[in-house]
Amino acid sequence: MNTGQKLKQKVVRICRLLHQKNLIAATDGNISVKFGDGLLTTPSGVNKAFLEEDQIITVDFAGRVIEGQGQPTSELAMHLAVYRLRPEVEAVIHAHPPLATAFSLAGASLEQFVLPEVVLSLGVIPTAAYATPTTAEVPLAIRELIKHYDALILERHGALTVGRDLIEAYNKMEKLEHTALIIFAALQLGGVKNLPAHEVEKLLQMRFSQKLQSS
Ligand SMILES: [Zn+2]
Repeated sequence: MNTGQKLKQKVVRICRLLHQKNLIAATDGNISVKFGDGLLTTPSGVNKAFLEEDQIITVDFAGRVIEGQGQPTSELAMHLAVYRLRPEVEAVIHAHPPLATAFSLAGASLEQFVLPEVVLSLGVIPTAAYATPTTAEVPLAIRELIKHYDALILERHGALTVGRDLIEAYNKMEKLEHTALIIFAALQLGGVKNLPAHEVEKLLQMRFSQKLQSS
């Protein structure tokens, strides 16, 4: 099996996982990963639980289809913008995690320092301003935040994560929704107390030195 086929297999597995973990429903969500001189991307309008390897579409960095039937994801412009702004990123995942998205409907933020391991891995999870899905507004709305953060909530829409490979981008999507779940539960139990400032400072220093080591 060549590298392209292996990568397609991985895209299919991640799509099924996103569906199993309730991070997408029906035809929601899209994935892309760098391959050769372009990207492998999921097709538009397909339920990701049933996606097959031969439905994956190869596009170049201008968004032109190189190989595959059907249309590439309708959020391709958002994916291309991420790769332009973050050259080190290898994979991008967009999903509709229900709790994280619900926070944005309620006007509540996940941009808070509460869980030490989330501070270490993601810093905070900011929310990008509302943009009409599938339009050129979406890449504009994420532009500034994606330069600094690997996991964003898209207001009233879903979430976006990036990684140095597909698994890393997937892990961040799982972590984002899990964080929303924990904070939601804490709110039911009477509220969320932030981490003390000196503990946040310690974690941010650890995060910074980890980043330096891995870069
Ligand atoms: Zn979407």
